[in-house]
Formats: sequence, C-alpha cells, structure tokens
Amino acid sequence: GTAVSLSNVRKTYRIGEPVHALDGVSLEVPRGSYTAIMGPSGSGKSTLMNLVGCLDTPTEGTVVVGGRDVGTLSDRERTRLRGTEVGFVFQTFNLMPRLNAVENVALPQLFQSIDRDERRERARNLLERVGLGDRIDHMPNELSGGQRQRVALARALVNDPAIVLADEPSGNLDTDTEADILDLFDEFHEGGTTMLVVTHERHVAERADRIIHLLDGKIERIEELDGAGGSQ
Ligand code: ADP
Ligand code: ADP
Repeated sequence: GTAVSLSNVRKTYRIGEPVHALDGVSLEVPRGSYTAIMGPSGSGKSTLMNLVGCLDTPTEGTVVVGGRDVGTLSDRERTRLRGTEVGFVFQTFNLMPRLNAVENVALPQLFQSIDRDERRERARNLLERVGLGDRIDHMPNELSGGQRQRVALARALVNDPAIVLADEPSGNLDTDTEADILDLFDEFHEGGTTMLVVTHERHVAERADRIIHLLDGKIERIEELDGAGGSQ
C-alpha cells in the first residue's frame, strides 16, 4: 500500500511575484519505506514536509495521507488526520517542558478514545523500546539531547502513524548520539514504520532506501540506495 502520495502538486506563494515552492511534484511513499529528502535552501523541502504533515494544502494537485485527500478536508479534519497519521520529529525535539517523558509520549493519544491507563501503558512501552524504560518520570531538562530525541521518537510513534516525518532529526546531536538515534530509526523501519527524513547530511540520508533530491520546487533526481537500482 501507499502511505503518502503526491500527484502533480504545485504550491504557490503569492506575496508579490508568485513563487512556486513546489512545481509539479509527484511522489509515492510506499508503506514501510524509508525516504530521505535533500536539496539546497529554498528548494521546497519545508513546503513538502508541511504538505505531507497535513499542516498545509496544495495550490494544485493532490496530497493523499493515510487514504485521505488532504486538500478536501476542513482544518479540523486535517488536524485530526495529522494527529493520528503523522508523527513528527524535529531538530529541536519540541517536548513540552512541564510534562515528564511518559506524559510527553502519551500526549498525541489525547484525541483517541483510549482511557488514561492504557495511554500511559502504550507510552511506557514505547519508552522502553527506545531504551528509556528507566527514565519515564524524568522531565525534559533532566534528559540529554539524545534522550530527548528518543522521547520525541516515541511520541511520534505512539499513535501508530502512517508516516514519521523527521526534520534534521540529528542536527543538534553529537556524532555518537546521532548514530544511536539513526540506529533506532533503522530498527523501527525494519519493524514496518514508514520514515521520511529531511536532511542536509549525506551520511544521514544514506540510511534511507532512496534519496529524493529537490531543486527549485521540482524533483531533480531520485537516488535508489538499496539493491541493484542505482540512480536514475
Ligand atoms: P533547513 O532546511 O535546515 O530548515 P533552510 O535554510 O532550508 O534550513 O530553512 C530554514 C527555515 O527557514 C525553514 O523553516 C524554512 O521554511 C525557512 N525558509 C527557507 N527559505 C526561506 C525564505 N526564502 N524565506 C523565508 N523563510 C525561509
Ligand atoms: P527549503 O525548506 O528547501 O529551504 P522552502 O519550502 O522553505 O524550501 O521554500 C521554498 C520556496 O518557497 C522558497 O523560495 C521560499 O522563499 C518560498 N516560501 C516558503 N514558505 C513561504 C511562505 N510562507 N511565504 C512565501 N514564500 C515562501
């Protein structure tokens, strides 16, 4: 199946001269795949992430996430879809500073009709899976950068989303901690999670199955990294 599909997507910003931030992008993200997005500043990476993350709608074309055409949804429906079908991991972790680790991870489940004990149990299980079973009551400021990003990854996964979107997820981490986080991405990917990672770092992108190179709002090139595919 397909986790996310973009078809002839154009996103135009009209502040003075119209800017086509994305200009005719078609892309299928298969369930269980691991895709990296690279491209220079201004090439459309953030715009693409915002569309896939249901934060915005295309000017032309369609974006389908978890089987729903994002452009046809109300703001409220989009918010709901985002909450269940998309997990976000940010460079700056974006944890709630006054909630402890397990509360942070449990947060995205508030929209779900699951009772409090079950939410906490799911959150605790995910924290165990990212190696933080002994830190569930710690506040974000009591955790290292790498541990914070593990909490963020657990939070991204808690609703079993169609896709995890990560924006420079290791940009604030030292080399060893980066490797640990990327190993966790690999582990969840092997377990079936669909990953989409924006990065400037070639070695981060190379963890993926394929790299989409954006340039001036268009897909310049798709580089297949696994098997005999080669680049196209
Ligand atoms: P990165 O890809 O590491 O986020 P960028 O330089 O591409 O770095 O963008 C940094 C931030 O600035 C992003 O949130 C992006 O949306 C925003 N941005 C990029 N280009 C522009 C621009 N021309 N005008 C305003 N904001 C921009
Ligand atoms: P990247 O993330 O690769 O740096 P962006 O998606 O942020 O690229 O930007 C793509 C193009 O769209 C840039 O020319 C940028 O200036 C423009 N752009 C992005 N966001 C906005 C916005 N909110 N308003 C106007 N122009 C924007």
